Amino acid sequence: MTKIGLEIHCQLTKLESKLFCPCKADYREFEPNTNICPVCMGIPGSLPLLNKKAVEKATLIAMALDCKTPNKIAFFRKNYFYPDLPKNFQITQLNAYGNTSIGWEGKISVEDKEIKIRRIQLEEDPGRLIYEGATEKTKLTLVDYNRAGTPLVEIVTEPDFETPHQVREFLNILSDLLENLNVSDPGLEGAMRADANVSIEGGSKVEIKNIGSFHDLEKAVHFEITRQQSLAERKIEIIQETRHWDDGRKITVSARTKEEEAEYRYHLEADIPWVRINDNTKNQLRAQMPESISSKKERYVSKYGITSQVAGILSSDRYFSELFEKANNETNAKDIANMITTDIMGLLDTREKREMSKLEGDHISDLVEYIKSNKITRASAKLALDEVIKNGKQLSEIIEDLDLGHVSDEATLSDIITEVLDEEVKAVEDAKQNPDIVNFLVGKVMQKTHGKADPELTLTLLKKNLGL
Ligand SMILES: [Zn+2]
Repeated sequence: MTKIGLEIHCQLTKLESKLFCPCKADYREFEPNTNICPVCMGIPGSLPLLNKKAVEKATLIAMALDCKTPNKIAFFRKNYFYPDLPKNFQITQLNAYGNTSIGWEGKISVEDKEIKIRRIQLEEDPGRLIYEGATEKTKLTLVDYNRAGTPLVEIVTEPDFETPHQVREFLNILSDLLENLNVSDPGLEGAMRADANVSIEGGSKVEIKNIGSFHDLEKAVHFEITRQQSLAERKIEIIQETRHWDDGRKITVSARTKEEEAEYRYHLEADIPWVRINDNTKNQLRAQMPESISSKKERYVSKYGITSQVAGILSSDRYFSELFEKANNETNAKDIANMITTDIMGLLDTREKREMSKLEGDHISDLVEYIKSNKITRASAKLALDEVIKNGKQLSEIIEDLDLGHVSDEATLSDIITEVLDEEVKAVEDAKQNPDIVNFLVGKVMQKTHGKADPELTLTLLKKNLGL
């Protein structure tokens, strides 16, 4: 049987500062090696000070993943020598010597399958190595320590996955969950990274590292299963090793044989005192926990009659569910939800567009109301949305500025219809035999009014004119 386990590293991007120093947690805007201080650079004599908010956010994740949570935590030094780690040790956690990390023995459901979470730990991110060219052939490696010390949560699953597809689904669910908890923005480059371990019946465990995206992870796992199966068929031993994903060639390549846990010479980080997380703190955190995606979905369906599919799309996206909550005035909930999922999601499909957008909840509820009361057509509503997103003006103002108001004035419409009937002599003849042709004529009237003609009135007037 194929067994796949994951090790996910997720940055707590919603925090202000790094895990043990006041440097910015958001290092992405900085010039290389400018978001650093003696603490995150490990200068002798400097002392770490634990970011309390990081402990709280990590505890929230542990709770949301149904983990057991400790009453006190300690930190450990994991010693290793690598250029991305200026201190030569990483401050992390360890489930040993009577200590536990911030969470353990949790679970998460993926397509009716329960994936067990082995542990969650809070640790610091190392710096970043930037290779010039391909990893194996690089002549030059650059080091940027801006990321060193960024708060990171490591989530380790049991090897419960059986297919690459389950892996992908799990990562999507986890990423939505972290976003919903407001602890991380998984869409940011490098904010969520995952390694996988893969083994097939009778073979050793192989770790795959260096995977850039969830999409690539699915491909890497798929490749690795096929590679191992082909070795097994040829009776070649599958050795325990770490392999890298080569993005260019879309294959995994051998990197090194597995280091043993003992080589890290873990020992207690004596510069950080024990941290107590008492029941009171846990209760307070639980009370702050946002509504879960599944209960949000259930509420949208049961309270507002939104279809399960639309409710699912809406509830799993933090930005759009917040927009829905703001727009929802209880009367048009279903139409508002539909407008967000059919029109607005397409218009705001990137982070940049969402950040620039001036669209507020009121705009959406107003627009739905305008459509319902026939003041604007659906086609014009899309133009209005485009405009609101750009400038945030009141809807009434935009409709006037762009002249988007419905043409429902009978005299005006009659004039346009007469024009169309004069131009479309053949269609007029055909329409008398085939009533479907009337819709073609409605379309012509729409064209002339730039989609603003009241469709029902147009149809009625056309039929009257044609004697139908
Ligand atoms: Zn620092």
